[in-house]
Order: sequence, then C-alpha cells, then structure tokens
Amino acid sequence: MEKIQNYINGQLIEPVSKKYLDNYEPATGQVYSLVPDSDSSDIQLAVEAAKTAFPLWSKTGLEDRMMILLKIADGIERRLEEFVAAESRDNGKPLKLARAMDIPRAISNFRFYASAVQHFSSESHPMPGGTVNYTLRQPIGVVGCISPWNLPLYLFTWKIAPALATGNCVIAKPSEITPYTAYLLSTVCIEAGLPAGVLNIVHGLGGKTGQAIIEHPEIKAISFTGGTETGKRIAATAAPMFKKLSLELGGKNATVVFADCDFEEAVKESVRSSFSNQGEICLCGSRIFVERGIYEKFKTAFVEKVKALKVGDPNEQSTDQGAIVSLQHKQKVLSYIQLAKEEGGEVLSGGIELQLKDRCTGGYFIAPTVIEGLDYKCRTQQEEIFGPVVTLTPFETEDEALTMANSVKYGLASSIWTNNLKQAHRVSEKIEAGIVWVNCWLLRDLRTPFGGVKASGVGREGGWEAMKFFTEAKNVCIKA
Ligand code: NDP
Repeated sequence: MEKIQNYINGQLIEPVSKKYLDNYEPATGQVYSLVPDSDSSDIQLAVEAAKTAFPLWSKTGLEDRMMILLKIADGIERRLEEFVAAESRDNGKPLKLARAMDIPRAISNFRFYASAVQHFSSESHPMPGGTVNYTLRQPIGVVGCISPWNLPLYLFTWKIAPALATGNCVIAKPSEITPYTAYLLSTVCIEAGLPAGVLNIVHGLGGKTGQAIIEHPEIKAISFTGGTETGKRIAATAAPMFKKLSLELGGKNATVVFADCDFEEAVKESVRSSFSNQGEICLCGSRIFVERGIYEKFKTAFVEKVKALKVGDPNEQSTDQGAIVSLQHKQKVLSYIQLAKEEGGEVLSGGIELQLKDRCTGGYFIAPTVIEGLDYKCRTQQEEIFGPVVTLTPFETEDEALTMANSVKYGLASSIWTNNLKQAHRVSEKIEAGIVWVNCWLLRDLRTPFGGVKASGVGREGGWEAMKFFTEAKNVCIKA
C-alpha cells in the first residue's frame, strides 16, 4: 500500500516512529494509503530545518520569492488532474467540484500572494519638526499552519502561501483525514526548487502532531482553521506562550430570504449554499429563514430542487453530492437528524443514510436533508452539524429574522436575499457575521478580509490581513 511521507528539510521522509495511520476513501469505505503518525520528534526535525532555512529565505528578494511561488502554482496546474482526483478521493467530494473550485483556488492562492507581496506597503507618519515614524513589517520566523479536511488543499495553501510570501518558514499539518493533496504539494515544492526547510509538511493526528506544533516554543505564530472546540484548546495552550494566533472556526450560518427577492435565484442559490460539498463548507448556510408571505412557495420549490440532487459516486459527472468525509462524521450527522426529530422537526426531504452500489457499497452517504418546524433555539438550530442538513423557519418581521439569525454562538457568514437596498444595508450591518453576501453566495475577491466573529474565530485571513498576520510590525521613529 502506498505510504504518504512527511516533507521535512526538502526531503520526503518516514516518520521517526515509522508508524502509519490508515487513510480511507469515504466513497468506498476502503483504506487506500497510509499516513505518517508523526509526533513531537518529527516536529522537532521540522523546526530545526525551518530555523536553518529562515535567515536566507527571509532575506531572499521579493521577486525571487515570487518566482518560486509562481512555479509552485504552475506545478499544481500542470498536474491538475492528479490533484483533482486526490482531493475527491480523500474527501468524498464530487470530482467536478474539486476541478471547478478546490484546486483552481489553491493555484490562485499561490499566484495571488506571489504578486500581492510585491505591493505590500507599510505606513509612514511624518511628525512636526521633520521626525518620521515608519512601520517596518518583518517576517515572524517559524510559523505553524493547521488546516481541516473540508477544502483540504485550498485551505492549506490559503495559509501557507501568505506565510511563505512574507518570508516565514512554515511547519504545516493538513488534516490526517485528507492528507493526499498536501503530500502532492510537497512533491511540487521539490520540483519547483523551494529551498530545503522553507516549508515542512508533517502529517499526523491533531491531538499529537498538531498539539506538538502548538506547544513548540520556537513556533511563534499559529494560523489554525478547524472546529471551535479545537480552537479553544489551541488558544489555551498558545496564549500563555504569547504566540500570535489566527483562529478560523466553526459556523452556523443564516440565509435570510425576504419576500421581495428574485425568487428563482434565491431558491437555486440557497440549494447550492446548503448542500455544496455535502454541506461541509464552513460558509454553507445551514439555517434558512424565509419571510412568511413566501414561506410555503419557497419551501415547495426548495424541497423539489433538493430532491432532484443526485447523491452518487464522486467520480461520476452527474453526481451533485458525494460522500461524507468519514464514518465518524457520518454518524455525527445522522445523530443530529435523529435529534431534530426528537426536538419536533419534520423531515421534508432526505433524513436517511443511503446505500450505494458497486464501487461505493461501503461508502458514507446521506441524502440531502431539509427539516422544518423547529424552534430557533433548539440544539439542531444552534449547534454546528457540518453536513447536508438544513432547517427552514418562517419569520414575520426583519427584527424577528435578525433575532433568530443572531441567536447562535457563531458568526461566520450569512446570505441575505432582497431587492430592497435599504433593507440590504440595514440587515448587513446588524447581522452578526464576518461575511455577508447579498443576493449571492461564495463570491469572494481574495483581497477582502476573511473570518468570523463570536465563536467563529479571532483574526482575519485573506489579502493584506494575512500578510499583516504573518509579519511583525515594528515602529521606527527617526528624529530629524
Ligand atoms: P478539527 O478542529 O477537528 O481539526 C482541524 C485541524 O486541527 C486538523 O488538522 C486536526 O487534525 C487539527 N487538530 C485537532 N486537534 C488539534 C490540537 N489539539 N492541536 C492542534 N491541531 C489539532 O476540525 P475538522 O477537521 O473537523 O474541520 C471541521 C471544522 O472546521 C468545522 O467546525 C468547520 O466549521 C471548521 N472550518 C472553519 C473554516 C473557517 O474558515 N472558519 C473553514 C473550514 C472549516 P486531525 O484532523 O488529524 O484531527
């Protein structure tokens, strides 16, 4: 069976312990490769390599850094189909989604930051009498990047690219559930001539490999994307060590549909925002609030479209929804469907596990599920499920919609559907979320800040924000 290797000091190597974990394909339930079960000794090797590489990499000219990052982007693009197949096989997502979204966006991350760092300027503040304060932004040193399983390569590179572009050396850990594209990335970095030790990719379990990154005293900053509970644990360890922290955490996003919206568009996009990637995108809308006047009409149209979604083998072009990422996650999602029923919810569509045939007989599939009749304060409407499950709830007034939308502990993203400009501005201002989409979903310019409020995270990624995160601002004051 193929063994994925760690990428440390420019080389693909075995974990120190020589131990491996099984890597499952969610669409089949079969093990298809082995992942290093790394521990603190692998992290130590990676830190040594990164420390050695830092003086040269941090002083490498911006243009030279740009050229290497562009070569990495080109390398992924040249091997696009290999990456697409690996992303889909690891995660269970439809091949066509990996081809349309995940891998192209990972390529864009490298291209964007290769170029953005050329234009990253710092501030200067002249004072009376000729004195000038200017801000010197310097790379931090060795930084840690930890990412989840839902958009494996995209979220991994979303952190790594700005960290490298700004001159840091990186210790990165992908989710052990979806390690393969990170492994392919190591091979692309070698082909691109990235100097040894600048990027180190160490595979393994969160509680062991991830924790060793968080605890390591010489890793000065942590950029983490994952669940809120994990984020809490990471903050508890890293904060007393005064590490710089960026936490992109869970969500329970609201979609608010007003009666004056473009109805067809709102229905179509709400189906997409609920069930893309099996509902396993942190930005998916999982609670849909619909103005009473159009509630029944919306419900009928929405459920009809959801029932038409094809759950199937991710490799098939006609598949809309693939497999749930793991057996454990499938059980979690099913347990929430059961909870919804106990809380009085009525399942309008789905609500069941699906048994597929042939290659996918042992795979993890759940029918896209729509539930109505739940109180907005119940657990199903308050807790993150992170799967193909959405609730429908009517509202009477804008205030009521906002009360329900803002009732959760999370605040990552939201979508509003209305043609009333004043209402769009008012609701955008009042809704508690780091991202608000009006009459659209998942559109994003890479220059915009990205992140959540409340339990959805601390700090911002994207554009200038990520480059600011990965640099220390020093104020230099020169008296004339
Ligand atoms: P987890 O929090 O379980 O894991 C995220 C990453 O952290 C994985 O690589 C994991 O490794 C690692 N990890 C786990 N425990 C520790 C630890 N103690 N120290 C260091 N690292 C650790 O999240 P999931 O992978 O289950 O991802 C789903 C979650 O991510 C959802 O809550 C989702 O909302 C959130 N998310 C947020 C996004 C955002 O931008 N706000 C974007 C995408 C997802 P391992 O997998 O090996 O356990």
